[in-house]
Amino acid sequence: MSGADTADSATSAPPNPPSAANDVLQPHERPTFVTPRDFLEQGRPVLPPRALTAVDKEQLDGLRTIRAFLKVRTSYDVLPLSYRLIVLDTALLVKKSLNILIQNGIVSAPLWDSKTSTFAGLLTTSDYLNVIQYYWQNPDALARVDQFRLNSLRDIEKSLGVTPIETVSIHPERPLYEACRKMLEARARRIPIVDIDDETRRTTVVSVITQYRLLKFVAVNVKETQKLRKPLKELVKVGTYDNLATAYMDTPVMDVIHMLVKKSISSVPIIDKQGTVLNVFESVDVITLIKGGIYDDLNLTVGDALLKRSEDFPGIYTCSMQDQLSTIYDTIRRSRVHRFIVIDDDNKLKGVLTLSDILEYTLLEGEENE
Ligand code: AMP
Repeated sequence: MSGADTADSATSAPPNPPSAANDVLQPHERPTFVTPRDFLEQGRPVLPPRALTAVDKEQLDGLRTIRAFLKVRTSYDVLPLSYRLIVLDTALLVKKSLNILIQNGIVSAPLWDSKTSTFAGLLTTSDYLNVIQYYWQNPDALARVDQFRLNSLRDIEKSLGVTPIETVSIHPERPLYEACRKMLEARARRIPIVDIDDETRRTTVVSVITQYRLLKFVAVNVKETQKLRKPLKELVKVGTYDNLATAYMDTPVMDVIHMLVKKSISSVPIIDKQGTVLNVFESVDVITLIKGGIYDDLNLTVGDALLKRSEDFPGIYTCSMQDQLSTIYDTIRRSRVHRFIVIDDDNKLKGVLTLSDILEYTLLEGEENE
């Protein structure tokens, strides 16, 4: 796997003692088996609550500390002392917006409607995926697609019947916790910070917070992330392990784009016929593919499309089911990572753990009992 970086593996727990196949169990020692019929007839069997282990308690304690931290910090706190903000006017041609994003090494930008002097939502890779879908359904309309401006994105989205441009935002003085909850509710991977002038009610876009920036802020400032010592395999479903969307190197890139849109996901692992992970196609990869409003590269296979990636592509991050969230947070602190591909010892795909999953777990795990 070229350029791959692996999250440090956690020290693994001692293996279970081998089962003594010949031992005969006494009736009182026999385990109770639950059959599917038990579920049908009685609903879910009520299992006695398992006593929390010291590691469980430490994990919950770590999560509580992170949440308490997010409740007393505001969106302003995440911003660096100096930063740039690129805001695009909705009158801009879609193809020009692509070039601006590429030239500035960014993948999203807030939109500004200069006719009404208002914030007009956040432009993200999902919007470009929609333009591509539109073009694919109306290949004869290339001349029209070429003239699309950012303010026509809403019409495209309406005609495709897909999720419209993201308009969720947060005031800079609201707690970060609220920004996180809003992101989770909207399934957004970033949220614009928008200030409103009390007198004029005019909006000002201050910046955009991404999931990565947020989780990195936590990783850098909350040393209690070290308390998250339960291995992934012991956590109830953090990440996705079933019905994974995957593709092969010779899959047409358009098929992968359809998967990204249909499942509202930001990446598709590329595997070989044995399930070994070879690469990952990310939704941001489409930006280079349709650079300058030229759609010919959409006919490529995934393998050829990935060759167009820029030299500074940071690589793929992997982890195993033995890794702990503390290690995952360590990796987030050190590197610009957006997802971990979960693999086994033979590099076979097991699942996907994205920043959305980590954020959701960090905010919501056990929350109903709080
Ligand atoms: P993302 O948009 O990549 O942050 O992912 C949103 C949700 O979709 C998370 O719960 C991921 O675990 C899940 N997910 C991401 N990629 C895939 C994939 N290729 N197949 C199935 N689920 C995925």
